[in-house]
Amino acid sequence: MNQVILPGTTATGHQTTLGVMGGGQLGRMFVQAAQAMGYFTAVLDPDPASPAGLVSHFHIQTDYLDEQGLAQLLQRCAAITTEFENVPAPALFTLGAHRPVAPGADAVGIAQNRIKEKAHFERCGVPVAPYAVIETPEQLAAIIEAPSAAPGDASPNGSGAGADLFPGILKTARLGYDGKGQIRVATRAELAAAWDALKNVPCVLEKMLPLAAECSVIVARGWNGDMVHFHPQLNLHRDGILAVTQVFEGNLPLPSVDRSVAATKAIAQELQYVGVLCIEFFVLADGSLVVNEMAPRPHNSGHYTLDACDVSQFELQVRALTGLPLVPPRHHSPAIMLNLLGDLWFDAAGRPITPAWSEVLALPGTHLHLYGKLDARKGRKMGHLNITGTDVEGVRATALQAASLLGIPAF
Ligand code: ATP
Ligand code: MG
Repeated sequence: MNQVILPGTTATGHQTTLGVMGGGQLGRMFVQAAQAMGYFTAVLDPDPASPAGLVSHFHIQTDYLDEQGLAQLLQRCAAITTEFENVPAPALFTLGAHRPVAPGADAVGIAQNRIKEKAHFERCGVPVAPYAVIETPEQLAAIIEAPSAAPGDASPNGSGAGADLFPGILKTARLGYDGKGQIRVATRAELAAAWDALKNVPCVLEKMLPLAAECSVIVARGWNGDMVHFHPQLNLHRDGILAVTQVFEGNLPLPSVDRSVAATKAIAQELQYVGVLCIEFFVLADGSLVVNEMAPRPHNSGHYTLDACDVSQFELQVRALTGLPLVPPRHHSPAIMLNLLGDLWFDAAGRPITPAWSEVLALPGTHLHLYGKLDARKGRKMGHLNITGTDVEGVRATALQAASLLGIPAF
């Protein structure tokens, strides 16, 4: 794309509209950033109550592969992005033939499939956890029957046989999120039943690694190859779901910061990626980094950027899509983000309650973001709370107070 798509009204009196495939909370925050800059927005999502559809100028309520829906989106929009990785790649190919689409179908197609994703990481020279692909009963049998590796015996990734992958996690190659589509398998004996439970779809078996920490890095890359990044996020997961993100100078040892940023940029560069990309990493006890997975879109761990940075990950998504300049974001406040899961809308006895918003918002430096979801369910992401301040200790004290008021375990 060599023409910038400027915000506001065009010379012919039209409102420039940006489109997004998917109407979840990430789409909602993209829409809000685009609107703040003067774009109109269109969301394609079948759900009439989708968080992004509720706040967008236009909401096309069709399936992602519906020809009429895609045609309407093309007719309305100057450029189109996506907010979740499971948008069918054929839909993105169709759109990409007519309009700038970022990220492109190729990159999204890789991120949709853990097998392709790991192969891409290995191509970029970024280490992954030892793993084996399980797509056939023969591959399953080879792992179950393989002799145990001697300690320190490094087997090639992806080959399965010979690698000691237990205890491990069996993950579906496609359509997993928030720890769904994953089963922990302590021993070989449990593997066959776990694969049956996942309906024998293509999977990867990954070795469980002892994690010292988890972190993620978000970059934005433009059509011209310019790239900017945010400081790495330190992430705490609970039950496979992101719970807390902490971002400040010194949140991670400097070598981890440098290596994770360099690896993320290499991964984005190699993909010729356009848009916002997040890479999740495991940090091991010796400080080494292992890449976990990528998200071809803004990421939950980057929500703090809405209040702690002068340019948010969603504004960078708008800028990357439209060809506007990508300025390096300035992180101006230490920040902690608490995810607000549906669990907070129930008391210990399981009765519905309203979380203590007044008390939480009485704490200086708290910023509430709710996604407009109508029904709270356990484990469902309903919103997040950002806490900012002048110093890390103060931010942490406020975050712990807010967590306690909301019933979120201390961290
Ligand atoms: P999401 O897309 O929401 O980030 P997901 O369902 O794709 O989640 P993963 O990121 O693969 O799941 O795993 C979720 C969490 O489970 C990780 O953040 C980590 O805490 C834990 N986990 C996953 N794989 C491993 C592993 N090999 N070793 C140790 N812990 C792991
Ligand atoms: Mg993950």
